[in-house]
Amino acid sequence: NLSTTYELNNGTKIPAIGLGVYKAEPGKEVYEAVKSALEIGYRHIDTASLYANESDVGKAIRDSGIPREEIFVTTKVWNDEQGYEETKAAFNRSLSRLQMDYVDLYLVHWPVPGKYTETYRALEDIYREEKAKAIGVSNFLPHHLEELLQSAEITPAVNQIELHPELQQIETQEFCNKHGILVEAWAPLGKARYFDHPTLKKLAAKHTKTPAQIIIRWQFQSGIITIPKSVHKERQLENVNIFDFELTSDDIKDIELMNLEKRIGAHPDEFD
Ligand code: NAD
Repeated sequence: NLSTTYELNNGTKIPAIGLGVYKAEPGKEVYEAVKSALEIGYRHIDTASLYANESDVGKAIRDSGIPREEIFVTTKVWNDEQGYEETKAAFNRSLSRLQMDYVDLYLVHWPVPGKYTETYRALEDIYREEKAKAIGVSNFLPHHLEELLQSAEITPAVNQIELHPELQQIETQEFCNKHGILVEAWAPLGKARYFDHPTLKKLAAKHTKTPAQIIIRWQFQSGIITIPKSVHKERQLENVNIFDFELTSDDIKDIELMNLEKRIGAHPDEFD
């Protein structure tokens, strides 16, 4: 159920399903979205400095009355904040916007060339100071991880990457599995752009579920952390109503055949 957690490589537990809040408007929209998700039972929120909504995320969490330690909060250092000293300052700004004294997971948002190694060194210090319960990266390809692991003293706990049926990132997944880095899916629903795919429609009909539920169940059964975004309570409910059915190995093979290794977002070697 919604309280299912995975164990990270440092022993920290992360809820398997969280709420993403990219493009949830600062102010009332993101505030209400986080509050309704927490009411439903979500205990994991994924934000970022870039999203400009950390203050409202923090406020919704405080106002929920749920003890801070029962909620898993991720935030990220944005590209123009990277570098050792810059990242430490960026982290403090995130903490003060969230009005928290720690985050559960702090991520390097993108592998900014020439900077991400130093950025990650700041994350290691933040982790040692116990201001982040775990640290990791996002949008790292195997070659970025290989370079990072040469200097890193702490293996990243997580790599948050674009991952959905049409972009399964098999190579990156294999690399992460080999190194004990948990894979987390962003745009897990493929931004709802191909819910009419015949395979999803077929599996949805077979299980009397929606395409979104088929995809989230697939990620859940695959041991991938998933953070679907919705600001609507009905959809937030729909996206976690996945614990009363199981995909068979044939169903999973069908979803694997949907893979086109086709991105919606930027390529990690080409973003700006
Ligand atoms: P997503 O795949 O979660 O799709 C979200 C969109 O799908 C919503 O805007 C909504 O319109 C629609 N949707 C959601 N549930 C639905 C349902 N049940 N039925 C119909 N439509 C539904 O895409 P996303 O928001 O880009 O990704 C999820 C989260 O991942 C983000 O909110 C953010 O937290 C994170 N993210 C991280 C990065 C990164 O670089 N690390 C990049 C993008 C997103």
